[in-house]
Amino acid sequence: MPTCGLYIHVPFCKSRCIYCDFYSTTCGADQRREYVEALIHEMQCRHDYLGATTLSSVYIGGGTPSTLTADELGRIFGAINRHWTLAPSSEVTLEANPDDITADYARALAALPVNRVSMGVQTFNDESLRFLRRRHTAAQVHEAIDRLLAAGIDNLSIDLIYGLPGQTLEQWQQDLDKALALPVSHLSAYALTYEDGTHLHRLRGQGKVQEADEELSLGMYTTLMEQTEKAGFLHYEISNFARPGREARHNSGYWSGMHYLGLGPAAHSYNGNSRQWNSPDLQAYIKAAGDVFATNLFSREELSPKMREEETLLTRLRTAGGLDLAAFARDFGTKEYDALLARAKPYINNGTLAHTNGQLRLTRKGLFVSDDIISSLFED
Ligand code: SF4
Repeated sequence: MPTCGLYIHVPFCKSRCIYCDFYSTTCGADQRREYVEALIHEMQCRHDYLGATTLSSVYIGGGTPSTLTADELGRIFGAINRHWTLAPSSEVTLEANPDDITADYARALAALPVNRVSMGVQTFNDESLRFLRRRHTAAQVHEAIDRLLAAGIDNLSIDLIYGLPGQTLEQWQQDLDKALALPVSHLSAYALTYEDGTHLHRLRGQGKVQEADEELSLGMYTTLMEQTEKAGFLHYEISNFARPGREARHNSGYWSGMHYLGLGPAAHSYNGNSRQWNSPDLQAYIKAAGDVFATNLFSREELSPKMREEETLLTRLRTAGGLDLAAFARDFGTKEYDALLARAKPYINNGTLAHTNGQLRLTRKGLFVSDDIISSLFED
């Protein structure tokens, strides 16, 4: 039976970080209540999208899902349970900010089906955290982890960002040392990006911050790979590292073609044939009581064979497992398979791609230029 996932987008943050372009808004308790009602209604309208009654993973992301109270989360899980069964080994992740994890909140999460928490840590340097307008301190990360472990949630992931303005390679190494000393089983690390429309983007435009140069970024990524490997983490996706057996199952599903339903403003869904995404508009979503069909609060794109092929390359080649070439030939035909291998040949020859055991994979050297390689493998 294929695995199916549920994603829920919680569009609230207590404040906005300067680099972030995810859809979220600051709000009060009334808006939260209305959002939860609308979300439950969307679930009623769309629960048969997956054509399955068992979920292998649930991911509550955002925004900041830990802005929701335990009661609000309880209502959401009550609705999930009315429509689906969680598989016995299902992974149920909640994204959280460290400063939201009080001892009571950690215990309340553990009493819900939540069995994994992913925390946005970003750096252990308090000055950088303030610059990024994160609300937490490094000390609060340790407190949050202690509280979650004490409550019985031991599948913990943290996010880090490297290439912060002014950050040196040594400071990044210190961040990694601190992260890898924590009792966490999963780490995601991303280079800082300057997204259009963010405050950080404006600061760069005004010459007030300087972007890390390419050489420093590559040095930081190399350090990331070396230190995580030494600490026993598997590098299983370009930006993701896990202790064996603790790879993120929901996110891995995105990279292996899992079908998933996304609920909430700005959430995306995929059923193998089409992609669908809800408008990033909380007010309209609440007004429509989550009925995205009745109000046209969504967009849909049917995937042509070419789009599915590109999607397959984009997602599979991100992973350490790489692309299964026999499956590619089965899904897209031998002509496409031959054409792909011809396009891959220069990269195999220069050592950025490896073709072994029926798999096509990025090598360590290839990881540094993964975007360029993957797009060069597209047909045009
Ligand atoms: S808390 Fe997360 S989602 Fe909210 S603004 Fe900061 S980075 Fe973005």
